[in-house]
Amino acid sequence: MSRNEALFAAAQQHIPGGVNSPVRAFGSVGGTPRFFTRGEGAYVWDADGKKYIDYVGSWGPLILGHAHPAVIEAVTRTAQNGMSFGAPTEGEVEIADLLCDMLPSLGQVRLVSSGTEATMSAIRLARGYTGRDKLIKFEGCYHGHADSLLVKAGSGLLTFGNPSSAGVPAAVAADTIVLPYNDVAALEAVFAEQGSQIAALIVEPIAGNMNLVQPSKEFVAAMRKLTQEHGAVLIYDEVMTGFRVGLQCAQGLHGITPDLTCLGKVVGGGLPLAAFGGKREIMSKLAPLGPVYQAGTLSGNPLAVAAGLATLQALREPGFFAALSARTQALATGLTQIGQQWPTELQISAQSVGGMFGVYCSPTVPHSYQEVMNSNRSRFNAFFHAMLNEGVYLAPSAFEAGFVSAAHDDDDIQYTLFAANRVLQQMA
Ligand code: PLP
Repeated sequence: MSRNEALFAAAQQHIPGGVNSPVRAFGSVGGTPRFFTRGEGAYVWDADGKKYIDYVGSWGPLILGHAHPAVIEAVTRTAQNGMSFGAPTEGEVEIADLLCDMLPSLGQVRLVSSGTEATMSAIRLARGYTGRDKLIKFEGCYHGHADSLLVKAGSGLLTFGNPSSAGVPAAVAADTIVLPYNDVAALEAVFAEQGSQIAALIVEPIAGNMNLVQPSKEFVAAMRKLTQEHGAVLIYDEVMTGFRVGLQCAQGLHGITPDLTCLGKVVGGGLPLAAFGGKREIMSKLAPLGPVYQAGTLSGNPLAVAAGLATLQALREPGFFAALSARTQALATGLTQIGQQWPTELQISAQSVGGMFGVYCSPTVPHSYQEVMNSNRSRFNAFFHAMLNEGVYLAPSAFEAGFVSAAHDDDDIQYTLFAANRVLQQMA
């Protein structure tokens, strides 16, 4: 038995499914999850000592790669002065100023510890601000695991074939209206019928939890226009896309000013930090200023703030996103070229935005949840395992986007393409 297998067997004794977050269990791809012992730059090592090029990056946060020296230095220095105070610290002021400076839509921002907390709190705030209950979300979008958002969601729910969760009261789910992504007519119809009851529309502005699906220009424009016309709060959930697709996130690429934005992953540089923020008029409804309650023992934790600040400062260096985007695009273009040399049923396709990419076992890139669901999942699973064998760690699910970090170099991309070509030849 390998060390990974032994650890997974032991883990299942006292941890449900052996993991602390479902997709880690390799449930949909099968086989044994890798237990990692070390990460450095673009690479991770598992418990059996095998090295992999990592395209998961802790599901997005590690945009600088593993154990980046500036992040390690900032966290170490901060820890020496104490780990947590439950009282304000200067770092929180610094990161709030920086976030509001980087993202023009943020008048004020509140720090929390996970993306789930950010979206859950943003929705409560939108409901408190508007005095309305209904929420629009889109099929295949994942916004964390708060009750009202676990309805037809993406990520692990799609991976395990059950897009809604048991334990969500019907009354709560009834206030969540789920619409197809990229469907302007469906959106217009709901606003025409129920516009005055809708508190908020929450969206992954570039979807990354049903694999990578890009929004159409018309869809992006319609969401802004309809929420504005009907007095609903437009929430851009940029937990994944925030500082991952560009310096001004997806909203910068779209030229849209959302009312509220949720951030996570990259903002914490690998430690538990997330945030939600937006218009002052809305944010001022939050406690202690206003009637909407929201709090957290470890919110704005000094170590997480230090890691976040070091990460944000690094990605503001001139040329950072140009280089990251070019490398990610080289990977996606290369995979597409390699993947298109087969008969249609064997083809793979790929695309990228900034440092985020999607690989699909289908001849063309998908534009909807339905098209993603039509991709060849068993083929993806075979591709995933063969790539793992070649030392390339992709997300263990056909429904997750992948991530390139600033630590990946041209050789890593070339090796990955070489491995993919060999794998597809074996699979053909
Ligand atoms: N929103 C989006 C778009 C996400 O991708 C995720 C996590 O993957 C979340 C929210 C939830 O974040 P967390 O896992 O930190 O709770």
